[in-house]
Amino acid sequence: MLKPNTNYDNLKNSYLFYNISQKVNAYLKEHPNTHLLRLGIGDVSLPLPDAVIKALHEAVDDQAKKNTFHGYMPECGAPFLRKTIAAHYNSRGVKISNDEVFVSSGASDELGDILDLFDKSSTALIMEPAYPAYVDANIMAGRKIIHLPAGKEDGFLPSPPKTAKADIIYICSPNNPTGAVFNREQLKSWVDFANRHGSVIIFDAAYEAFIEDILLPHSIFEIEGAKECAIEICSLSKTAGFTGTRLGYTIIPKELSRGGMNLNSMWVRNRTTKTNGVSYIIQKGAAAVFTDAGQAQIKKNINVYKKNAKILTNALDKPEIWYCGGKNAPYVWMKVPDGFDSWSFFDYLLSEAGIIGTPGAGFGKCGEGYFRFSSFGNPEDTALAAERLKKLFSR
Ligand code: PLP
Repeated sequence: MLKPNTNYDNLKNSYLFYNISQKVNAYLKEHPNTHLLRLGIGDVSLPLPDAVIKALHEAVDDQAKKNTFHGYMPECGAPFLRKTIAAHYNSRGVKISNDEVFVSSGASDELGDILDLFDKSSTALIMEPAYPAYVDANIMAGRKIIHLPAGKEDGFLPSPPKTAKADIIYICSPNNPTGAVFNREQLKSWVDFANRHGSVIIFDAAYEAFIEDILLPHSIFEIEGAKECAIEICSLSKTAGFTGTRLGYTIIPKELSRGGMNLNSMWVRNRTTKTNGVSYIIQKGAAAVFTDAGQAQIKKNINVYKKNAKILTNALDKPEIWYCGGKNAPYVWMKVPDGFDSWSFFDYLLSEAGIIGTPGAGFGKCGEGYFRFSSFGNPEDTALAAERLKKLFSR
């Protein structure tokens, strides 16, 4: 009889968003017509930039004509988009060649699929609190996970462990949920650690576009030695509002080999087997993000979210609530006031202020005692939420 993948039995049920929606629905039942202020979502609220919409329309029209119609697209990405993305990296001083860029349907897909490159016996080091997909994808594959707790003491930016070593290392910077960003020295210590132990870093750069501090690295490949030990996974979801349009990209340097096998070549083999490419229309829309007009328009949208984050952090500054994030990231991660845990603080904010956030406990054990606000909501609601937070904290 067929044996299913019993590793699925080891997955913890993810109650986070289910519990939130249950609590919100119960509240709305008792308080119908209440306008709740939703600061829990990680989805964008602004529409796609004009430059992207124009490119999408043109690409749809291309598909209507025999001489511009596109069928299957190259599995690793359309040459025009691989070239555009490589040029974007090069313009920021990171030398990447076109065939080191792989176009994907989004970072989530890649974060799971990329594990095909590694043996099942390899261990995965996950810094926590963490984006839940890292843990779950490795549990499904039956991998041993080394949980590396982070906290207020290290600003949620942990250093490499002294004793443990790991084969696969996840780094998310700017981080979801904490909004913390690794600086060059900190990243260099992880790159050195990975090179010393023969590990591979999976660098999740989904929020790099939110970095405003010029000293902070957007890409792990800004760090010397990273091309020998890292894969970067990125996405246009938060950068350009592609959460529902779907496009990401993965950088696998040619220098990256393990056990005599080249990971770039392995990924070409993987993609040519497991995908038939990303839609021509969407890739055309994505290329428009990297034009001058596209870059100006996405910056404008990101600034709306950044203003939201600033309004939220202002509300936490005066009562001296500890938080990180919000400046170079769309998330603000605050310590809940004494006497609360992250779920009781959720209940308190909902009942006293009509604000919905995300309890830190949903991102791993060491997220307990913290709370995440997202800046992706609409500015009016965010401003109102900030006013209500100020009032609550002045009580
Ligand atoms: N990585 C992180 C850290 C995220 O927070 C998210 C989405 O919230 C993703 C990846 C997924 O991005 P995509 O929409 O490209 O699948």
